[in-house]
Formats: sequence, structure tokens, C-alpha cells
Amino acid sequence: MSEKNILKELEEIVGKEFASNRSEDLYIYSQDPGASLSRPVDFVVMPNTSKEVQDILKLANREKIPIVPMGGGLTLSGLVIPVKRGIVMDMKRMNNIIEVNELSRFALIEAGVTTGQLLAYLNINHPHLQPPIPDAPPSATIAGNALIHGSGYLSQKFGDHGSMINGLEVILPDGEVYKLGSCAVSDYWFTRGPIPDFIGMFISSFGTMGIITKLSIKLFPKHKMRNIVFGLNKDATLLPELISNITFTDVAEDILLGIQDKPDWMKGYTFIIVYITGESEEELNDKTKILKKMYRKAKSRYMKVPNRIEDIFLEKPQFAAGAADFRKGGGFEYVGAFIPLQLIPEMIKIGTNISLKHEIIPTMGARLIGQGHAAMFFISYSFNRSDPKDMKNARDALHDTNKAVLEIGGIPWKAELDGQRMILERMNPNYKKLLKGIKNLLDPNGIMNPGNWEVK
Ligand SMILES: Cc1cc2nc3c(=O)[nH]c(=O)nc-3n(C[C@H](O)[C@H](O)[C@H](O)COP(=O)(O)OP(=O)(O)OC[C@H]3O[C@@H](n4cnc5c(N)ncnc54)[C@H](O)[C@@H]3O)c2cc1C
Repeated sequence: MSEKNILKELEEIVGKEFASNRSEDLYIYSQDPGASLSRPVDFVVMPNTSKEVQDILKLANREKIPIVPMGGGLTLSGLVIPVKRGIVMDMKRMNNIIEVNELSRFALIEAGVTTGQLLAYLNINHPHLQPPIPDAPPSATIAGNALIHGSGYLSQKFGDHGSMINGLEVILPDGEVYKLGSCAVSDYWFTRGPIPDFIGMFISSFGTMGIITKLSIKLFPKHKMRNIVFGLNKDATLLPELISNITFTDVAEDILLGIQDKPDWMKGYTFIIVYITGESEEELNDKTKILKKMYRKAKSRYMKVPNRIEDIFLEKPQFAAGAADFRKGGGFEYVGAFIPLQLIPEMIKIGTNISLKHEIIPTMGARLIGQGHAAMFFISYSFNRSDPKDMKNARDALHDTNKAVLEIGGIPWKAELDGQRMILERMNPNYKKLLKGIKNLLDPNGIMNPGNWEVK
């Protein structure tokens, strides 16, 4: 079918304004804010309903056109830049908050609802509830973030955001609508079980399995008071035990670690940032006392910081990218890996060495996930977007990091193509066989974000 006729069909489905193959519209979809090189896109389409998504998928499947779902496009690892050309399906128009269940604490939303939108909606309409949100800009979608095992405020206590999905409405390349989770049986989107759980297949599969049109995401109680207790550590080998002990006491809502060589006074230290919450000053004071004692025991110091700094850390989301823009020019590659707690000291060494090798100021940290079951360790590689050599330098640092992470037993998070390839090389052969089999079953024509998670 000719390009002209494909565009005509897309326009018939979504309306003339919401389908395009004009180069000025496609330009922004051919790149992302990370260090990936741009790649060509043939069409962009913005559906408004599940029915429109069904019709677009039927067309793409019939004509064997690759299709790439996109939320906010902020993942930074090239996941929404098509590898094999085709259609980018931008989900931003599907932004209805369908239902908030106060008692069972979940929100049923469309896939284009952003983190900023849900946060603002709850603040106004359900002030005692809070959603899981990352430190990404508020235009990131709840779906896009949960679908990459994202993490953020509440992850320490309740797990990564993928585990907070209660239910999905998914449209597969055959154009059929599938409901996963309790919503397959009940009108309530309140849980994933107790039926065979297929939701996990759609998380970190980077749009290679189907298009999510609706999801139910868990909400959590918002306590009256929230504060931070800073600690300062000089011996990273003591961190895993300290963190494990803090999570044992249940005093922390969240735990972040920060390691930065700039400004100079931060060099050589790990900042431990523990978020505490409660219903009274007294409760916060008690939690602070417990933490101070634990810091002391682990040869770390409690640190009182000015209110101005406290305010920055208490904001949700924090403006993370600005703090790491050392090269100027706005380039920021946010490299992450899931690791077990004991690997934190080694990751600090790896992040520092790779940064210095690539002449980047070491800037890294970790976010605790699921009461100490894992940490998401992140390293920021800044680059000057107008300098192709500097962008390549960030990509090389990313490559070195993925390699080192896999060697010590961690797993690169939201891995770009090169990282996916390295993960697949190490993956258990039967896991790979299963992955290939499931992908072929759901997407026999290989139209869903092809090139990603490609098992040879
Ligand atoms: C400054 C900055 C700070 C960040 N901080 C954090 C942080 O603290 N925690 C964190 O977790 N992340 C963070 N990130 C990374 C990332 O921005 C977020 O995880 C973000 O929420 C991803 O959401 P998105 O809507 O941009 O997803 P996208 O990039 O649009 O999509 C992510 C993946 O999901 C797929 N996808 C999207 N929508 C659908 C759909 N409807 N159906 C099927 N597949 C779909 C895409 O194809 C892609 O593979 C940060 C990024 C930046 C730029």
C-alpha cells in the first residue's frame, strides 16, 4: 500500500489533525532527550479511544508496518525512537482519569495520563491519597513509567512501579481488546490475581507485546507530615548493612543515596536521604531519633541541612536534570541498574571510574526498592547536545556501565538497544526461548517496536 493511502487510512481513523507524515511533525519523534542517535519515522498518529487504537493496529498488522507506542517519550534510552521506521503511536490524547477508588486505593486511568496530571487531580479531589511518581518531568506518563519498572517516591516501601499495576487493558496486533488482572472477571480493577498473572509480560517489554490503553495503578495513603533525615557516610562498605537495618525498622517511607563530586565539599561522601512521614511532630521526632542512632552505629553522621535544601528534596518531582548539567548544552543520560544491596559499594566505584575515564563529573545515587529487596542505582552522564563527540562519549560511558553492571550481577534498567543485546547474551537460553515464543504468539508479524528485545 502506498504511503499516501496509509496516511489516508490513518486520517480516517483519528481525524486529519492527528495523523501526519510531514517532516516537521516527525522531527521530534525521530529523537529523544538522551544520547541516542536519531532514527527515521514514517508516520505519527494520536488516537483518542481504544477503538481507534484497535483500528490502527489492524491496519499496521495488515500492512506489516512497525508501530511504536509512546507516552511522554522521556525514558532517555531511545525506546520510543523506531528502530525499523514505521508509525509512532503517541498516546497523549488518551488522558482520562476514569475512576478513583478511595477505599481500595487505586486509580483507573487511560494510558496518556501524565504523572503531573494524576498528582494534581488527587491533590485536589482526594488529598489523602498519593500516586507513585518518579523524579521525571511531570509530562512523563504513569503508564510509560510503570511499564519500564520505574521507581520513585513510595518505591522503598511498596516496590517498583511495575509491581503497582493492578490491571491492564491491552490491544494486541490482532486488534482485539484484552483485559488483564481482576478486571478480566470483576468490575473492580483492584488486584492482579488470583488468576494466572499475565501483566508482568508487558512490563519492561518496551512496547514489543501490545498497546496498553488503560491501567489501574495503586494509590497510597498520604500522611499529614513528611520530612527528611540526612546522613553522611564516608565508608561505603558500611552502607548495605545500614540500609538493611533502616528498612528493618519500618521508619522510612523512602531512602535515596546521593554521591557527587561537585560541589567540592560533597566529594568522597555518600549522602543518605531518608524520608519519614507521620501524623504528628512527635512521631517524626521519634523516627529521627531512631535514625540518628543508626547513623552513629554505622560510623555515619546525622546532618542538619538548611531549610532551603530541605525544601528542594521535599518537592515532588525534584528537578533532577538541572543538577547534573555540568557540561551545559542540556544533555543528560540517566543510566540505571537494578542491583542487590550488597553491590552498592562496588557500583559507587564503577560509576566513579567510568565517569572519570570519560571526563564526566561523577554524579550518581540509588533509590531503595521494596524495603531493601533491591536498589535502583543511577549514574548521570552529562553531555553537550550540540557536540556529537560529547554525545558519543556519553554513549560509550553507558556501554561501559552496562558491561560492568552485568559482570558484577546487576541488570541494566530501561536498557537501550546495545544494553538489551548485552542482557540477551547473558540470558538463560530457556528464558530467551520463552520470550521469543510469547512475542511470536502475540505479534506473529513482528510489528510491535521491532528491533527491541530481538531474540535471534
Ligand atoms: C530528568 C529525568 C528524571 C528521571 N527520573 C526518574 C525517576 O526518578 N524514576 C524513574 O523511574 N524514571 C525516571 N526517569 C526516566 C523516565 O523519564 C521515566 O521513567 C518516565 O516516567 C517514562 O515515562 P514516559 O511516559 O516518558 O515513557 P516513554 O518513554 O514514552 O515510554 C517508555 C516505554 O514504555 C512503552 N510505552 C509507553 N506507553 C505505552 C503504552 N501505552 N503501551 C505500551 N507500551 C508503552 C514505550 O514504547 C517505551 O518502551 C527520569 C527521566 C528524566 C528525563
